[in-house]
Amino acid sequence: ASAPGHDDPSPAHRILEHVFGYPAFRGEQQAIVEHVAAGGDALVLMPTGGGKSLCYQIPALLRTGTAIVVSPLIALMQDQVSALVEAGVNAAFLNSSLDMERARAVERALWDGTLELLYVAPERLMTPRFLDQLDHLRDTGRLALFAIDEAHCVSQWGHDFRPEYLQLSILPERYPSIPRIALTATADRQTREEIAERLNLRHARRFVSSFDRPNIRYTIVDKDDARRQLLAFIREECPSEAGIVYCLSRRKVEETAAWLQEQGLNALPYHAGMTQETRAEHQTRFLREDGLIMVATIAFGMGIDKPDVRFVAHLDLPRSIEGYYQETGRAGRDGLPAQAWMAWGAQDVVQQRRMIDESEANEEFKRLARNRLDVLVGLVEATTCRRQHLLAYFGEESGPCGNCDNCLNPPQTWDATEAARKALSCVYRTGQRYGAGHLIDVLRGELTDKVIERGHQDITTFGIGSELDEKRWRTLFRQLVAREFVAVDHERYNALRLTDAARPLLRGEAEFHLRLERERSRSRAKRRSA
Ligand code: ADP
Ligand code: ZN
Repeated sequence: ASAPGHDDPSPAHRILEHVFGYPAFRGEQQAIVEHVAAGGDALVLMPTGGGKSLCYQIPALLRTGTAIVVSPLIALMQDQVSALVEAGVNAAFLNSSLDMERARAVERALWDGTLELLYVAPERLMTPRFLDQLDHLRDTGRLALFAIDEAHCVSQWGHDFRPEYLQLSILPERYPSIPRIALTATADRQTREEIAERLNLRHARRFVSSFDRPNIRYTIVDKDDARRQLLAFIREECPSEAGIVYCLSRRKVEETAAWLQEQGLNALPYHAGMTQETRAEHQTRFLREDGLIMVATIAFGMGIDKPDVRFVAHLDLPRSIEGYYQETGRAGRDGLPAQAWMAWGAQDVVQQRRMIDESEANEEFKRLARNRLDVLVGLVEATTCRRQHLLAYFGEESGPCGNCDNCLNPPQTWDATEAARKALSCVYRTGQRYGAGHLIDVLRGELTDKVIERGHQDITTFGIGSELDEKRWRTLFRQLVAREFVAVDHERYNALRLTDAARPLLRGEAEFHLRLERERSRSRAKRRSA
């Protein structure tokens, strides 16, 4: 690697400057580019907007032959290819949006070896016809590399699972000497291992970037009258700015957009139930006009590169911490201050739990979904730095950020140390075999059938927690799980068991504080109905 200020720039630097027009690499880009250009395999975890594309585009130009970029998103391919062509790079894509004639022309260029980059959809890549072409390139020494974008699509437990991605594991068998680089912005530790495993990249070098987005301020409020709270937030914090408002359902998208328009805001709806033309039109307006608010389902946003989105608001709980991170990450790509705002209520959690319970998915999938929801609930109920929570999820340690609601305005809490100790000893006394529901019955001294059947009315923790209502206990258990004082055994009906972290709390060497739920919402609701 060349030192900064080196008078003889490396070939990678020259391409960065002369083709892409950037003076310097960002973060780990240079290390990644050099590693892949030299023929190494790489697994790259970099947040959205971090600059993943250059990590394979520059090696593609440095190596002989054509680089094959696997991407699941047609819109993204088109954008990238147009940008490359504009920069003077010979790039093309092959997907279902091309007519026969144009597809043939691209195939000819591929065969002739004149393309520097070719973007393909995974299902296209796997066709015998395409593989024949790749064989030809390999045999003539003109296959530069494989880049696998959105690599988390290989994860069966993720939201974006694409079965065709599983077949990409044949690439190293068929083309063992061709370097591969897999990239994703969504990967907790488990998903990372899954990617490495399924794409046969266990030996690939890993590049993990920081996921921190310091310019984004995180705020999560208790839902009261969510729309009015949203309106107040927009008017006070980001008037006339471009933003995205996420809702769970199409109907709510429509209603919210209409309502914001009535309030005099420039808002448009976007969801998968709208016609292709309307969606395209709204998207274009969002990109071109200033200060437009897009009210959308999560169908909106992937691959949209608008640097000056000033806020992302959630009127419903996202599906996971990852989803939250992805969606909020669309704010402030330009590095200027931006806001991530969410209104949430306990009923959202109940609703999502029910959706999971009632879904057709298998038990394993449901368990993982519940797990994901628990982690998310841990974030929304957190009394300490939100960013710390978020980054911890991605395996990053950090201090309090000073730029989230909890840092700026520490919430009121109650000392739940004693209650937590009672809960933990109840877990222990009942043999670490029961879920929160039963444990709460025991703590509250409820003589349910199950309590009597197990003889739990006779243990020392029976009835020692009657001073708290069920809701408080639920919150407490959820937080004990979120902060990993207890672990959930999903194999055994969500039984709770103590972790090592529970010991200091049980011994009285640690404290446990919980957010005090505000009474405000109830009194306001009363006032309105009066
Ligand atoms: P990702 O795929 O990780 O979401 P992109 O590759 O689309 O990110 O890059 C995000 C933005 O950052 C793009 O506008 C890109 O041009 C810009 N960018 C990437 N690398 C650099 C760099 N080294 N210097 C300046 N801008 C960069
Ligand atoms: Zn903070």
